[in-house]
Amino acid sequence: MEKHVEIGKTGLQVAPIGFGANTIGAHNLFQNIDEDVSRETLRVALAEGVDFFDSAFMYGLGRSEELIGEVLAETGRRSDVVLATKAAHVVTGSNVTLDNAPTFLTESVDKALKRLETDYIDLFYIHFPDGVTPPDEAVGALQRLKEAGKIRAIGLSNFSMDALKLANKDGYVDVVQDKYSLVYPGLEEDMIPYCVEQGISFIPYTPLASGLLTGKFAASNPPQDFRKERPHFQGQTYIDITAKVDSLQNLANQHSTSIANIVLATTITINGVDVVIPGAKSPEQVRANMKTLQVTLTHEEVMQVRALFK
Ligand code: NAP
Repeated sequence: MEKHVEIGKTGLQVAPIGFGANTIGAHNLFQNIDEDVSRETLRVALAEGVDFFDSAFMYGLGRSEELIGEVLAETGRRSDVVLATKAAHVVTGSNVTLDNAPTFLTESVDKALKRLETDYIDLFYIHFPDGVTPPDEAVGALQRLKEAGKIRAIGLSNFSMDALKLANKDGYVDVVQDKYSLVYPGLEEDMIPYCVEQGISFIPYTPLASGLLTGKFAASNPPQDFRKERPHFQGQTYIDITAKVDSLQNLANQHSTSIANIVLATTITINGVDVVIPGAKSPEQVRANMKTLQVTLTHEEVMQVRALFK
């Protein structure tokens, strides 16, 4: 696998395996988050060569960004890494709404800069469309922040195809992030080809299908946490997916690696995808995921893995 790649045409160079930071300090999303484990996971990520961190306000209502800022300040590694973060959510007690208004995005960038303890954000995304602000106006606000040097690249996440086209009418969008993995296909027909055509980098989120594609869950023993509500973790669908995942063990053995690394190495070969951002809850998971950098699959092997999940 290549050692470094450019994210689309942004000029941002990263290792092709980044780090999804939605568990870091994310007390609002996961139970029993231990911030010391979050800090140590970030330190180990840096030591293992992670140079691309994907955060968001919504991950701990700013706590993920704060912990990343803290560890980068402690290690003096800010200039070695590419920082991505996102905003759109407005959280008032248990009420969550979305905002893409230019004033909101401008304030969000300023607040994220403080939490991340930095004077520039490499990649700033609108996390979700608010359905109200014209998408090109929202992106126009980010373009002004880019020209002001506060952000270096513009991202959109969770936008429909139509909203994405509108948002990118001036060609300002650098990166699109959306849900996509071997078990959540469906963007190959429109969104990913559009990104390729426009020189936009496509970053798939939940590349391990929230752990389902690591091979650690037995068909007879599905996880009992938030995942049990998700469609892929239910009934026959879950049993079928675990059987397919288990069948990757032979290929993993041939490469002296893990099923998770085979899945990530396959995902990175998709045209339009420059980098993947698996999440990790522990230093061990980061170490394990970074071993993907040592895996190079043949074209036939990639096709074999993708065909399994068609
Ligand atoms: P994921 O990468 O598919 O799965 C991550 C989870 O799988 C971990 O939290 C861990 O959970 C388990 N895991 C990871 N590595 C493992 C390993 N080597 N062995 C065994 N288990 C392992 O899902 P994700 O973290 O939700 O998504 C990745 C990133 O995408 C996020 O961190 C975030 O940055 C981004 N994201 C963005 C959006 C958006 O709206 N833009 C939405 C979701 C995610 P357990 O230990 O609990 O099994």
